[in-house]
Amino acid sequence: MSEFSFARSIPVRHEVDVVVAGGGPAGVAAALAAARQGCSVFLFDSQNCFGGMGTAGLVPAFMQFSDGVNFLAAGIGEEIHTKLRDAGGTGPDNAMSIRVEVFKRLYDQLITAEENITVSLQTQMIAVEQQDANVSHLILAAKSGIYAVTGTVFVDGTGDGDLAAWAGAPFELGDEAGNMMPGTVGSLWGGIDWSRVKKPDSRRFDDAFAENVFSVQDRHLPGMWRVGHKLGGGNIGHTFGVDSTDERSVTRALIQGRRDLTEYERYYKEYLDGYEDMELVCTGSVLGIRESRRIMGDYVLCLDDFNNRATFEDEIGRYSYPVDIHASKPSEENYAKFLDEFKNLRYGRGENYGIPYRSMLPRELKNVLVAGRCISSDRYMQGSVRVMPGCYITGQAAGVAAALALAAAGDVRQIAVTELQKRLKAMGAFLPNYSAES
Ligand SMILES: Cc1cc2nc3c(=O)[nH]c(=O)nc-3n(C[C@H](O)[C@H](O)[C@H](O)COP(=O)(O)OP(=O)(O)OC[C@H]3O[C@@H](n4cnc5c(N)ncnc54)[C@H](O)[C@@H]3O)c2cc1C
Repeated sequence: MSEFSFARSIPVRHEVDVVVAGGGPAGVAAALAAARQGCSVFLFDSQNCFGGMGTAGLVPAFMQFSDGVNFLAAGIGEEIHTKLRDAGGTGPDNAMSIRVEVFKRLYDQLITAEENITVSLQTQMIAVEQQDANVSHLILAAKSGIYAVTGTVFVDGTGDGDLAAWAGAPFELGDEAGNMMPGTVGSLWGGIDWSRVKKPDSRRFDDAFAENVFSVQDRHLPGMWRVGHKLGGGNIGHTFGVDSTDERSVTRALIQGRRDLTEYERYYKEYLDGYEDMELVCTGSVLGIRESRRIMGDYVLCLDDFNNRATFEDEIGRYSYPVDIHASKPSEENYAKFLDEFKNLRYGRGENYGIPYRSMLPRELKNVLVAGRCISSDRYMQGSVRVMPGCYITGQAAGVAAALALAAAGDVRQIAVTELQKRLKAMGAFLPNYSAES
């Protein structure tokens, strides 16, 4: 491959306290939290809306906000969920399902209500500039051209850890062999007769496999969520072997995922009740990504922490979703392993694990925090903390921590963690192990 050297002067268009890369659940929570602490914030996203997988990716539902006793994603997560419900943005019979256009508007409203936040959509980060361990500028590309933004603290809310990885933080990707969970092309369907849909639906995979409905025999079908009177949000089909950090791999997966939906359409129409007249309305504008980089931080949250319901002195929140690792390759054996983990690596009512501040501090970097799906964890813990309520918890903490780090020239290791916990608690965060005296 030949090389081409590229250098030019570009404007520094925004100079703020906190730059947030990526406006998914983690990035939005970080931006709101930092702005409410009085910081000037610049938030951008490559998509045409905020919300990441939950909007552009058409993920149709939230996983649990609570452990059955305690509201864990309290503070900004709770605010978003309550406002979405009040705006009619959840399904007709399920407060956890999502009407995507209402959700997009809610994010718009929440973000534009904060005077301190400047936003830009359809804006792609293409490079990171730094002086030693300090990130100095992000280079962004948008319709108006290429420009730079600078800040004192940077929050990586890209889900893939692009910012931290490009700045040199170590990361892990997938299992020992690099295999990752499959992606999914999110889908929205109309014409469903929900009064006839069986709950749980009676899967007829053996019949469908025998009749060659599917080109790949994959028994794991998360399914359809009711998101409107006749609408269903599909978490349907797996794109195996995708690497979200490589657009060539993502391109192949998008094309394959859209094609595979025709097989699922036939399956739903011919084998399941209530779906006979269903029609595909649209697919997600971005591939649904369950797993990508895990940025290695000062602490790596691990399976032992899940099993021990770990408590940390520096915890910024607690969460409880089961370990949910979709098999990286379809087979009966792999599906059985997924089921076994999903059934056994889960908590009873009122149980939860701590998330330490150190799992948001990328090694090798001083003024960067990582939030959301790509925090420092092993694969098991990513399989739990990756869902949206978990991302609100770490996003909110990143925003408040960024505000505190301003006093230390952006050094995220120089903040007083008790002050972080105090401010998070004041925002409503679930921090049962923090007390004002500690
Ligand atoms: C198919 C599927 C089903 C799921 N089901 C559920 C579910 O039922 N319930 C649940 O709670 N969770 C679910 N999840 C998980 C959850 O949606 C995601 O893990 C969560 O959204 C991650 O949040 P995040 O903010 O870390 O990243 P994301 O949601 O991925 O947001 C990251 C944002 O950063 C932007 N970005 C990335 N790189 C750049 C760049 N270089 N420049 C500019 N912008 C960039 C992206 O456009 C995106 O908007 C599901 C995920 C998938 C894929």
